[in-house]
Amino acid sequence: RTVYLNGEYLPEEEAKISVFDRGFVMGDAVYEVTSVLGGQILEFEGHMARLQRSMDALEMTGNLSRDEWLEIHRELVARNGIDEGLIYLQVSRGNAGDRDFHYPPAGTPPTIVLYTQAKPGLADDPKAQKGIKVVSMPDLRWHRRDIKTVQLLYPSMAKMAAEKAGKDDAWFVEDGFVTEGSSNNTYIVKGGKIITRQLSHDILHGITRASLLKYAAESQMEIEERPYTIEEAQQADEAFYTSASAFVMPVVEVDGVAVGSGKPGPVALRLREIYLDESRKSAL
Ligand code: PMP
Repeated sequence: RTVYLNGEYLPEEEAKISVFDRGFVMGDAVYEVTSVLGGQILEFEGHMARLQRSMDALEMTGNLSRDEWLEIHRELVARNGIDEGLIYLQVSRGNAGDRDFHYPPAGTPPTIVLYTQAKPGLADDPKAQKGIKVVSMPDLRWHRRDIKTVQLLYPSMAKMAAEKAGKDDAWFVEDGFVTEGSSNNTYIVKGGKIITRQLSHDILHGITRASLLKYAAESQMEIEERPYTIEEAQQADEAFYTSASAFVMPVVEVDGVAVGSGKPGPVALRLREIYLDESRKSAL
């Protein structure tokens, strides 16, 4: 696999970063994950806008231009022959030469890494036809979840705990209400209405979420943005989640209770189709 590191395309085993890199030592880095379908990049503009927003929130400088990013994405897709898969992008605050809590001096270049993951069959994931099962867990993450940092230890712990419990993923709960999934935004459907938590510092502002709500509104579906509880999710007609890598994924069980029929619901499956159609149309 060819990866990108600070201006160079390298075989993955030759791409090396400093032991003092702040992404490694402090978790001082932000990232994006973008899907590729048919060799084209989905939601490119949205991911680049959020990257800039994450960097601004952390006063990270040295971002590349939109056109430079697009060229790197396309080059990696071409060099690695990706038809369906993911592109992972990470920007860390770089390396000041030694470990220090303080940020390195202004002008220290960020460390920029990108690599691809081939995922043949990504759009036809059989899990979407079966639906997935989730368990709830307290949301123990920090309180700036709108910044897409690489501090993913708690989501990793949650996914391990879900697997140990024989389930597929975790939904996080804070003050009695669902915040989001361990790596996705969550939704319930009741009486035809799509209910999802409103944007704030409490959740990541999903790029898939923004497009999904736009397409749902264009299809005359009713949307309500508000928090909901696990009990309300268990009594809903349907549940699902969205992310760049899973698109729209039906959720059929929450904490051992079947949601609706216990099978993927019609709204979730229709939204998955609409989302895949529309995002392919705007792919670059
Ligand atoms: N919330 C969290 C915590 C996530 O990690 C992700 C996936 N990056 C999302 C939501 C979904 O965001 P997106 O649709 O931009 O992938």
